[in-house]
Amino acid sequence: MIDHYKIARQRMVETQLIPRGIKDKRVLDAVRKVPRHLFVDEAFYGQAYGDSPLPIGEEQTISQPFMVAVMTEALELKGDERVLELGTGSGYQTAILAELCHKVFSIERISSLAGRARKVLDKLGYGNVVVRIGDGTLGWKEEAPFDAIIVTAGAPEIPQPLTEQLKIGGRLVIPAGGEFMQSLIRVRKTENGIEKEDLGGCRFVKLIGEHGWKVEKEGYEY
Ligand code: SAM
Repeated sequence: MIDHYKIARQRMVETQLIPRGIKDKRVLDAVRKVPRHLFVDEAFYGQAYGDSPLPIGEEQTISQPFMVAVMTEALELKGDERVLELGTGSGYQTAILAELCHKVFSIERISSLAGRARKVLDKLGYGNVVVRIGDGTLGWKEEAPFDAIIVTAGAPEIPQPLTEQLKIGGRLVIPAGGEFMQSLIRVRKTENGIEKEDLGGCRFVKLIGEHGWKVEKEGYEY
């Protein structure tokens, strides 16, 4: 039987990622493999391989495939890393990471999203992922230090616990800046401190927490 979704993924890689400069073969293979449509509501299956974010409920989104690829490539994963992810959301980025590293520690502040992501990840057999509900801006102290950290929500500034929980030589990728527009920043931790690199403009939903934006709605307080 023809797998139309597999063909759509292949096309997505060839038309959205390679022409825009994504080169890491392992990242491209992971995007070819992970069924993005299963991470969105069935009503959005037909749009799952388009060039855009999509709603996943709770006013949150699954990120644009290109942005997932850019951020993942920037982490420079080789396969043996322990990676911290902030903002599990749908779990799609989590699955991409799980394909590329040893273990993923993912934190989501909205329990309904974390629960749904966990179910899809389990169904797809990602046993190297732990999902926790909470404020990711505090990091995950018991599991630190991490080889790489990815933040998939926009922060006003880089949360200090995250740089503290990064290994020397580790990479942290985070959208940081204003409420509506941010810069994608890659931080490298060296013996001499941290080095920051601006990878370009981006637009993410807010990172809400103690070291992020403050809670603005009832119901998700800590
Ligand atoms: N990477 C996700 C995916 O592939 O579906 C998309 C993530 S979405 C753009 C951002 C997520 O970050 C939302 O699910 C939001 O609830 C979550 N978030 C915001 N602040 C957070 C925090 N302090 N800790 C953990 N998750 C947070």
